[in-house]
Amino acid sequence: MRSIAERSRRMPQRVDAKKIITHIISEIERSKGWLSEIDGAVGDGDHGINMAKGCGMALEKLDGVPDTFSDVFRLLGMTLLSNIGGAMGPIYGTFFMRMAKEAEGKEQLNGEDLLRMLEGALEGVKKRGGAEVGDKTLVDALQPARDRYEDALKFGKSMREAIDSMIAGAEAGMQSTKDLVAKKGRSSRLGERSKGTIDAGAASCYIILRAMGESLKNYVE
Ligand code: ADP
Ligand code: MG
Repeated sequence: MRSIAERSRRMPQRVDAKKIITHIISEIERSKGWLSEIDGAVGDGDHGINMAKGCGMALEKLDGVPDTFSDVFRLLGMTLLSNIGGAMGPIYGTFFMRMAKEAEGKEQLNGEDLLRMLEGALEGVKKRGGAEVGDKTLVDALQPARDRYEDALKFGKSMREAIDSMIAGAEAGMQSTKDLVAKKGRSSRLGERSKGTIDAGAASCYIILRAMGESLKNYVE
């Protein structure tokens, strides 16, 4: 017999992966102006444009891949990796390809599956870009998202509640970047002057995790 906590973390139905990825893409598209604006305060102002362009290209190819988590995340990862300029192509490429790898062969996701996906993405991004918490990058949103999610599961919360904690962790982490000095990428050249604005990569990471979490919640209890 599985415990109640374990059962509540199991998805009752097959996940519609294309619906989830489409929601992520449309949220990035909707936020592209803001993302470019905050990137422009300390960088070259292209982050929203870059992300929306890559996401749009992936959307066009969505009909050509099977409707599984690993296939759609791999498509998004590969498209961002090979088509968007700047620091973020390889970094978000790694982010989504690691998620795809952890979701391989799964039609449903339980609490632990999503934890492995977040962990894989975090590990991959850190390895690829060399950033740690406090460097004013997407790691500042991703790591607390993963940590809060894991804590919620450990405390026996439902997957829905754990997803809410993940989103709250990402949002708090994104907000924390406002007072940080950038240590990686283009904005690090500004030193102390990079303070005062939310990091664009942390913001897009929050948007992605929120969109993914809100869609996934339709399939969990
Ligand atoms: P670029 O800086 O080349 O114009 P983007 O504007 O698309 O690229 O992305 C900028 C974002 O990239 C930053 O806000 C930061 O979050 C992220 N970033 C830059 N360098 C790194 C790195 N080494 N590791 C993780 N994230 C990074
Ligand atoms: Mg930029």
